[in-house]
Formats: sequence, C-alpha cells, structure tokens
Amino acid sequence: MDIILLGPPGAGKGTQAKRLESARGMTQLSTGDMLRAARKADSPIGAQVRDVMDRGELVSDAIVSALIGEHLEDAANGAIFDGYPRTQHQAEALEMLLAERGRTLSHVIELVVDEDALVRRIVGRFTCGECGQMYHEDFHPPKKEGVCDKCGSTEFKRRPDDNEETVRKRMEEYRAKTAPILPFYEERGLVRQVDGMGSVEDVAASIDAILDS
Ligand code: ADP
Ligand code: ADP
Ligand code: ZN
Repeated sequence: MDIILLGPPGAGKGTQAKRLESARGMTQLSTGDMLRAARKADSPIGAQVRDVMDRGELVSDAIVSALIGEHLEDAANGAIFDGYPRTQHQAEALEMLLAERGRTLSHVIELVVDEDALVRRIVGRFTCGECGQMYHEDFHPPKKEGVCDKCGSTEFKRRPDDNEETVRKRMEEYRAKTAPILPFYEERGLVRQVDGMGSVEDVAASIDAILDS
C-alpha cells in the first residue's frame, strides 16, 4: 500500500508518517529529510539546494523526483510519501516511478488545518539532535525538560527554515503549486480529507480508519 500525506508545512505529515512506520511497518519517504541529509553530507546536491530551502522556495522537480526514485525500493512494505509530490510535474513523475515498478497509489490523505495553527506548530517545533524524535514547545514537550524521552540526549535542534517569515513563504508555495495538484487525484477518487486540527491521536485514528476501510 503506497499513500501520499498531503498538507501545508506543519500540518503533521512527518508526525503521522513516523507513527505509520511503527504501527504498520510502512516506510516514510520524506524529500525534506532527504534534502537535509544531502546538505549535512555536503554533497553537490546539498550545495545546490541550500539557499532555495532557506528561502522557503521549492527545489527543482528533477532533484526531488530523482531522490524518490533512488529510495522507492526501501519501501517494499508500502511507502508514505511525505512532502512529495509538491507540483504537478512531481505528481506525474511519481506516477511513472510507481508504474515502472508495478505499484499504484491507494490513497492521498489530505490533512486539513488552519493557517494560524500552522505557524504556531512550526515555530515551536524541534527535534532530538541524537535520535531525531520530534517535539513541540507547547503541544509535545519532552517529559523531563531538556532531556529526550527516547534516547536521553540533551541536544536538540531546530530547522533554519522554521521561522515565521520562511513559513509564510512555504505556505504561499503550497497554495500556488501544491494544492492545485489535488484535482489530479480527486478525479481518480483517491483523495480522503482528514481534520488535522485534532490531537495527534485523533488524526492517527482518522488515518487508520481510512487505511482499514
Ligand atoms: P515541511 O514538512 O515543514 O513542509 P519539508 O521538510 O517537507 O517541510 O521541506 C523543507 C524544504 O525542502 C521545502 O521548503 C523545500 O525547499 C524543500 N522540499 C522538500 N520537498 C520538496 C519537494 N517535493 N519539492 C520541492 N522542494 C521540496
Ligand atoms: P509537517 O511534517 O507536516 O511539516 P510535523 O509533523 O513536523 O508537520 O508537525 C509540525 C509540529 O506540530 C511538530 O512540532 C509536531 O510535534 C506538532 N504537531 C504535529 N501534529 C500535531 C497535532 N495534531 N496537534 C498539535 N501539534 C502537532
Ligand atoms: Zn533522542
């Protein structure tokens, strides 16, 4: 089962993808994470995308679709596409990549959230520097302040693009380029809307209900 989680920055795609990985053995394919890994490794792609990402703009379709192509085999038990596709071109590229491997999308889950909540979610977001566990200052702080619940590390990091100005730019990009791909999937009856404003558990339950139906 291959699915897309679609929604603006901060909608909860990463949070829900991680849960689906542990609950169902599916594999999260996040182009944002792949691009950040390329930057960290100082690869040529990393250097190429750095400024674009820090401005909150989209990197080129060719780069992200190539990354997905390289990682699709990692998701033998079902892929959760997180943050991809983000343009019509990417949606078409994904169709090809899946078809070449005899795969098809089973659901496109749209996380519906309001914009003010998104800004709060994003500027409060941070992760463990050691294990990558996700946190939020208000909605999901570590149980013991300054210590990761999962691995005990005391080092945390924030993304350089998680500031209010860049978030607004990312939302504009979402509205202009990503939301318009929904009809491409609606025509095929693949889109299911989920209210992304509930608790993490409520959203997870709604997604489970769709995947089990
Ligand atoms: P978020 O989940 O907060 O929306 P991501 O981690 O998915 O953010 O993406 C961070 C940045 O990486 C984006 O602002 C963009 O610059 C780049 N990026 C990630 N995925 C794509 C993609 N599919 N197409 C183009 N750019 C992407
Ligand atoms: P995305 O991958 O769509 O950009 P994330 O999953 O990273 O979004 O979530 C953004 C921030 O909001 C994170 O700090 C996360 O802990 C928090 N968050 C995610 N889902 C919810 C929710 N349902 N309610 C409150 N906070 C949430
Ligand atoms: Zn940790």
